[in-house]
Amino acid sequence: MKKITVIGTGYVGLVSGTCFSDYGNRVICCDIDAKKIDRLKNYDIPIYEPGLEPLVRKNVERGNLSFTTDISNAIQESDIIFIAVGTPMSPSGEADLSYVKAAAEMIASHMNSYKVIVVKSTVPVGTGRMVQKLIQEHIGERLVSFDVVSNPEFLREGSAVYDCMNMERAIIGSTGEQSADIIRELHAPFETKVLVTDLETAEMIKYAANAFLATKISFINSIANLCERYGADVGHVSEGMGMDSRISGKFLQAGIGYGGSCFPKDTEALRYMSQQVDYDFSMLDAVIQTNEAQRMIVVRKAQDLLGDLGGKTIAVLGLTFKPDTDDLRYAPSLDVIPALVRGGAYVRAFDPVAAHEAEMLLGTERITYYRDLYEAVEGADLCLILTEWEDVLHMDLARVKELVKQPKFVDGRNCFSLELMRQRGFSYRSVGRPDVD
Ligand code: NAD
Repeated sequence: MKKITVIGTGYVGLVSGTCFSDYGNRVICCDIDAKKIDRLKNYDIPIYEPGLEPLVRKNVERGNLSFTTDISNAIQESDIIFIAVGTPMSPSGEADLSYVKAAAEMIASHMNSYKVIVVKSTVPVGTGRMVQKLIQEHIGERLVSFDVVSNPEFLREGSAVYDCMNMERAIIGSTGEQSADIIRELHAPFETKVLVTDLETAEMIKYAANAFLATKISFINSIANLCERYGADVGHVSEGMGMDSRISGKFLQAGIGYGGSCFPKDTEALRYMSQQVDYDFSMLDAVIQTNEAQRMIVVRKAQDLLGDLGGKTIAVLGLTFKPDTDDLRYAPSLDVIPALVRGGAYVRAFDPVAAHEAEMLLGTERITYYRDLYEAVEGADLCLILTEWEDVLHMDLARVKELVKQPKFVDGRNCFSLELMRQRGFSYRSVGRPDVD
């Protein structure tokens, strides 16, 4: 049993802290957001993440998990301290490290004995060393020792609990054997593959992994755009490519590109890191540009089907960047809906969990929000799919056809087979596949 503090109780801190507590460790999750901590104390989970609430409840009741804003006390009570605060994108593309630095300073101020300080946030190469230096400077003459470890997180929103409990690998970047062994031991119950490296290598692994997945997505989207011009079907191209185990079919689904809180900011941060050392990472530039252009493809397809968008009603189905999360950070909907509105359309926006949050971000001018898909499609000239929620994948197409004004679909996620949409009598435009009229 280890005593752990997790600083930052967001998607990563809350899920990983809860999973560590489930394996019998004593975990204190801290946050500066008092409202978040109050909600958690009442089992009111501030994020939408399947399976998280019962796991939190179980471990709080067992006495293994607690929530607090009293970070100083938590630090003193723990042997291992995880930093899991946000590292958002700053205007230059650089990762904003102000939250990481604030957490490190707080740790330094309250440390009373040897601690292993683990950076779980995604941070630019060199940050672990910077944290080490910063803490050392703050400690000054006090006789307390510590080690800094990099242990990047690989969970996916929407399946975060599953991913954490069944983690494929743990990367442990350290400056010494003692701290690496402590963190390796912490991962033993997960029965996962462990790779121990130095700090810089561990930090680079996280960016390299995310940039590589983003590259696969932009690559298949470029192939999809070619398929449209040559009359090929990208669904089958992906399937055929994925049969080669060297390639794998994962992350080869054509669509409107990647979004969310990780890929856009991590690819930008890696680009910034390259610029800092005068390295021309032109492949990464292309990945980012391809992704930005891909979002607008569905707007052009809507124009192809409707002509002028002025005065038309468009039901946008799905607002989050992927299903099973309420996260709207860098979601394609945040670019697509304003473009439709600028074109003069009225938008009826559906999302089963993030409709309210989307309203806060996009406002209500020419946009109405629904948690029910069938209400959203009523009277629509076009349905435009942005997120493959279960509600979207399993919608009753016959009922939708009765409710809409025109039976027209633009599908940014290739949710339906061309045969099905032909049979049901829809005009259907998807990504990288032949049109159905
Ligand atoms: P988040 O924004 O959901 O949560 C961060 C939390 O940290 C917030 O609750 C905030 O209030 C808190 N915080 C900020 N400063 C603090 C401080 N000084 N003391 C205590 N709490 C503080 O962020 P997230 O999505 O969990 O991401 C955290 C890190 O993990 C980021 O670096 C991100 O890139 C990385 N990551 C995220 C994911 C993901 O799917 N979200 C996956 C892998 C890695």
